[in-house]
Order: sequence, then C-alpha cells, then structure tokens
Amino acid sequence: MKSKAFALISLFIFCLSLSAQSQERKITHLRDNIYRFQDNKHFSIFIVGNSGYVMTDPLNLEAAQWLKKEVVKRFGKKPVRYLIYSHNHPDHISGGQGLVDAGTQVIAHRRADNDMRRNQVSTVYPTLTFTDVLKFQFEGTEIELRYFGENNGAGSITVFIPEKKFLFGVDWVLVKRLPWKEMYNYDFEGMIESLERLLSLYDFDMVAPGHSVVGKKSDLKQFHNYLKDLRQEVLAGMKKGLSLKQMQDQISLKKYKHFAMYKEWRKMNIKGAYDQLTQLSGRYGQPK
Ligand SMILES: [Zn+2]
Repeated sequence: MKSKAFALISLFIFCLSLSAQSQERKITHLRDNIYRFQDNKHFSIFIVGNSGYVMTDPLNLEAAQWLKKEVVKRFGKKPVRYLIYSHNHPDHISGGQGLVDAGTQVIAHRRADNDMRRNQVSTVYPTLTFTDVLKFQFEGTEIELRYFGENNGAGSITVFIPEKKFLFGVDWVLVKRLPWKEMYNYDFEGMIESLERLLSLYDFDMVAPGHSVVGKKSDLKQFHNYLKDLRQEVLAGMKKGLSLKQMQDQISLKKYKHFAMYKEWRKMNIKGAYDQLTQLSGRYGQPK
C-alpha cells in the first residue's frame, strides 16, 4: 500500500515536471532596460521605456497575450510604441494582435511583409517596411534594424542598439548551438556572408538569439567559424570523392562538441551543407 502511494506521488511529480517542461514561459532581465521573453524554445526581446514599450517577435497569440499581461503587471500600463518582426516565419511573428495598441508602429523588412501577407499569417501586418537599414530613436536611444542579405526565411533582420552594445537576431544568429537539422530553411552561403558583414560592422558585447543561450560577440564569431569549418570539411570531402555517408562518419567538427545539439544534428548539418554546396556549384556527379 505504502509503495503504491509512493508510486502515485512519484507519478504526480513526474507529470508536474513534464508540464513545466512543456510550457516554459518567462521574462529575464538582460541589461539596463532590455528584457528577454521566452516561450519554450523561442525567444524575443523587449525594451521598457518611460513612455511605452518596444516589442519584437510575439511568437504566438497565447504567448503574446501572456507577455502583454506580465509586462503591464511588472512595468506598468504603457502603450506598445513599436513592434518589430525579425523575419517572416509564423512561429516567430504570429499573434501580433496580442501585443499592439492603437498607434503601434509595426515594422518589418519588405520581403517579410510580402511573405506574411501572401501566407495570411495570423498577426498584425506591418505599418512600416524597409529594405536595407532603418534607424529610429526611442526615448533618446538609437535602435538600428538592418538586413544583411539572404540567410534564413524572407527579410530576416537584426536589432542593434549601439549605445547598449546589444544585438538581437533570430535563427541565423546562434550561440553555442548548431543550426537547425538539415538547414533546409537556411541559405547556408548567405548565412556565412551575413555573419561576416555583421561581425565586421557592429561593436557589441551581448547577443540574444531567437533560439539559444545569450552570449558575447566572441560566441557569434565561434558560430561563424563553425559554419566555415563545416563548409571547408564538406568541400574537402567532395574533392576526395567521399560519399555523403562517408563524410557524415568522418567529419567530426569536434572543436564544437560543446555546442547544443552537436550529437543530434551534426550529421544532418553535414547533409544540409552537402546538398546546398552540391546545388550551388553544380556538382551533381558527387557520390551519394
Ligand atoms: Zn526559428
């Protein structure tokens, strides 16, 4: 009887921890008036001002409604003055209607705007779009939005706050984590080029990605190096005439074994790089 009760209690605790795991939603302080919002495996950031808020990706309607309520509770009832979409993917930009107020300026890259309208994403559509760079002042602090070219999805931009040496980027901006599986959503070469430009242009010491832990500029450099090493190793394998399977077995990239998802996605990353490099350079005769 006793052991049965114990088993039941254990099961209850196990279920509680499962539900806690499946729904992780929280706000953490990053620096000054910049905060991070987490909804399970998705992250965005927001800025708390005296006159209102600057929000980024709402993630989904339920998450956005939760965030709006929490923000009012913690920082006061003030209007959302700007809502910035990082790119077009619905798992990041759905639910904007849960965040906006009358008069919120909703900003996105023109290509992201086109795509979300075409796909009828359930969100609030942009009131302001741009193609290259957009700088604006929020309570005396400059916020810079910039498009670095093709890298992931459509119209993927970064949010840079020079005065705070702070950067927010999503999907192609990662810290100590491998890119998603076979990199099907990514433009592999474009991602390497975008990071090259970003790293040479911006001076920052904190980067908050849309999917991984927060890091420093050196972490983003390391992620950039991972992509370049992955490319280099796959190209070398192709030159030797190795099959994809042989490359997956031989290319260890072990310098990066501390990255999250290294065990799970390394072989998939190799396949993704192989597929894209084969297509890009027309190497269709490569052994499979
Ligand atoms: Zn994503």
